[in-house]
Amino acid sequence: MDLKQYVTTVENWPKEGISFKDITTIMDNGPAYKYATDQIVSYAKELGAEIVVGPEARGFIIGCPVAYALEIGFAPVRKPGKLPREVISADYGLEYGKDTLTMHKDAIKPGQKVLICDDLLATGGTVEATVRLIEELGGHVVGCAFLIELKELNGRAKLGDINIKTLIEY
Ligand code: 5GP
Repeated sequence: MDLKQYVTTVENWPKEGISFKDITTIMDNGPAYKYATDQIVSYAKELGAEIVVGPEARGFIIGCPVAYALEIGFAPVRKPGKLPREVISADYGLEYGKDTLTMHKDAIKPGQKVLICDDLLATGGTVEATVRLIEELGGHVVGCAFLIELKELNGRAKLGDINIKTLIEY
């Protein structure tokens, strides 16, 4: 299936000059959403992933059906103030300023094999901060799966030799 045909590009959103890739038109199409999920499930099986981690909010949309299909767990990565118990935090740089991501301290067991899922790899800042959180908890990131990769932003460079799978490239 050519998944790219289900992505909607929205020019100048959320601000002037941004060409936003809207994945809701993959999700609202049953066969396309299932196809995308199945690709990532196969990848997760090859890697022997034991838990899925996804950053809010679109990482939940991609990661949760993968975890469900594999009958493994899902652990959320969230902005500060959203998780109710003790968390660890990681900062990452934005174009202007910084942002912070958090995870529950007990979300990952030491040595657990983790698959990170998100909708899109751009500069790699989000996923790199997510890797730091998982590694601080003693987890082993076996792979990262994204629906979309924006190649020219070279987010891969931030991930060193971590295995990466992307389904659609721009
Ligand atoms: P990065 O941290 O790699 O620069 O940006 C990736 C993060 O920003 C992902 O969590 C993703 O959800 C969000 N993001 C950035 N640009 C887009 C876009 O064009 N479309 C979508 N769907 N998400 C984006």
